[in-house]
Amino acid sequence: MAAYQLAVAGLKVLVLEAGRTYDPVRETPMFQLPRDAPLRGAGTREKPFGFYDATVDGGWDVPGEPYTNAPGTDFRWWRARMLGGRTNHWGRISLRMGEYDFKPKSRDGLGADWPLTYKDLAPYYDKTEMLVGVYGGDDDLENTPRSSPGVLMPPPAPRAVELLAKKHATPMGIPVIPAHLAIMTKWQDAKTLPQKIHPTNKLAQRVLRESMLSRQACFWATPCGNGCSIKANFQSTTVLLPPALATGNVDIVPDAMVRDITVDAKGKATGVHYIDKNTRTDRHVTARIVVLAASACETARILLNSKSPAFPNGLSNSSGLVGKYLMDTVGAGIGGQIPALENLPAHNTDGASGMHMYIPWWLYKEQLGGKLGFARGYHVEFGGGRGMPGPGMFNGLESFTGGSYGKKFKEDARRYYGTFMYFDGRGEMIPNEDSYCEIDPDVVDQWGIPVLRFHWKWSDHELKQAVHMQTTFAQIIEAMGGKVQGTVQTDGNRAIAKGGQIIHEVGTCRMGEDPKTSVLNPYCQSWDVKNLFVTDGAPFVSNADKNPTLSILAMAWRTTDYVLEQISKREI
Ligand SMILES: Cc1cc2nc3c(=O)[nH]c(=O)nc-3n(C[C@H](O)[C@H](O)[C@H](O)COP(=O)(O)OP(=O)(O)OC[C@H]3O[C@@H](n4cnc5c(N)ncnc54)[C@H](O)[C@@H]3O)c2cc1C
Ligand code: SF4
Repeated sequence: MAAYQLAVAGLKVLVLEAGRTYDPVRETPMFQLPRDAPLRGAGTREKPFGFYDATVDGGWDVPGEPYTNAPGTDFRWWRARMLGGRTNHWGRISLRMGEYDFKPKSRDGLGADWPLTYKDLAPYYDKTEMLVGVYGGDDDLENTPRSSPGVLMPPPAPRAVELLAKKHATPMGIPVIPAHLAIMTKWQDAKTLPQKIHPTNKLAQRVLRESMLSRQACFWATPCGNGCSIKANFQSTTVLLPPALATGNVDIVPDAMVRDITVDAKGKATGVHYIDKNTRTDRHVTARIVVLAASACETARILLNSKSPAFPNGLSNSSGLVGKYLMDTVGAGIGGQIPALENLPAHNTDGASGMHMYIPWWLYKEQLGGKLGFARGYHVEFGGGRGMPGPGMFNGLESFTGGSYGKKFKEDARRYYGTFMYFDGRGEMIPNEDSYCEIDPDVVDQWGIPVLRFHWKWSDHELKQAVHMQTTFAQIIEAMGGKVQGTVQTDGNRAIAKGGQIIHEVGTCRMGEDPKTSVLNPYCQSWDVKNLFVTDGAPFVSNADKNPTLSILAMAWRTTDYVLEQISKREI
């Protein structure tokens, strides 16, 4: 987002990318069926999300690029190594943070408040949603904000499983409303949107119009995680980089692994050192402004490795907080088999490979009244039904069929196909002092760059939240007449996913009003180095239940507006 915004504003931008270049239009295997893939598409260590997943390089393990865990910690760090990063295969769930989410400490005394309000970011949410294309309903529930009129694309029709969940959850007081995903349900209006988004910038209007005209609406038939060659969903590589390149202001250098940021005698950033992975040689490029967007933990790593006599503890680290207050999302889930869905006649289940409806957090009043025993909340992502048969879809079926085979097995497969549903909670983690990353003094990666060591601890709030998730999901499944699969845990440590496993890591360079207690100012500018900015998840002060990427994009846009203002005032 930062490269796009700076380029359309006329700045010359050099993008250094650690992974290889990637063109979804040419490379995306979106029409391949799981049965055509090795192992029928099942996940492997190199391809955790299946053979056709759009992560061409990256995952929980990156060969030659380890990270370490402190004793007692089992943090999982997912890294992409490709142009466009994880936006090539993310879930596209795009929820806005609400008013409470920016001021959590004021509400319950825990964690810290953001140095901005929902109102500060709302215009950027609107513009980001129009730019990338987001479907959703204009629901206006507590702390679940609505977009401005005309911003969202219409939500797709709910499918059988979504209607069934709504029918049974509503009497329980649990709302089921249209989900928000960065997928286009119709063509973008290339005539009017570019002007709405960039009212005074003719270059931006031109390149955005061309880009919008090259995108198609979703045809609801292929897994979005494989990438989208028709550009119907949001990937940086199909939506932001093409118009940025069309300005003529952007150069991209792939296979460029940034090691550290260089500074001059006055403490201004002068550029970065990177390793050319093809020749394994050190390179240096100079820059007037450095913008870090390498993902929250990698950004902390680059800053901590940027040591100099003026910055012996790493760059932008006068507060000592770089790497601190690392957060992920609380994750716990449970599935069930729903007899009401058995032996259904063939019916149309076309749709996104993600959800059409979801459950926003609904217990704000009970929580404020101290009735839940934990702070903050979660939303629920759920689904199931008759999607394209994927690898492993009948795993464990023998517990229903008693191990049938032949004709009976075929009948059982027809009976049970599409009758399984899952419910996954995605909840807020409160930042704590025991969850952070630092440089491991003893380990370097294959490029000679010191690696990160992680420390991790969930608090009781997150553990209790995970138990609440599983208990509630079991109640919904039972209300639908279903049978819960697996054990509903009463021990939060057993219910909760491992740190990093939900792949929403944020924090590590938090923003704030005070340089002593934050790394960045309210515009994501380093307090210590005026021409250094951060536009990934590192500036997050808390990690609301809302998935982070839409907020990362909106904040990056706000930061680049500030960069341009600072340039025009000759402050940087
Ligand atoms: C399977 C999956 C599903 C997800 N679903 C959702 C979802 O539904 N909703 C949501 O909001 N979020 C989701 N996420 C999370 C989302 O992908 C991230 O929040 C988002 O991509 C973060 O953006 P980023 O730019 O900070 O990092 P990334 O997308 O990881 O991009 C970082 C880029 O920097 C490059 N890089 C890293 N280190 C260096 C270096 N040293 N030098 C040069 N370049 C470097 C990387 O190669 C990469 O291109 C999901 C993630 C995964 C993996
Ligand atoms: S379902 Fe739609 S958005 Fe997703 S990959 Fe297929 S065409 Fe693209």
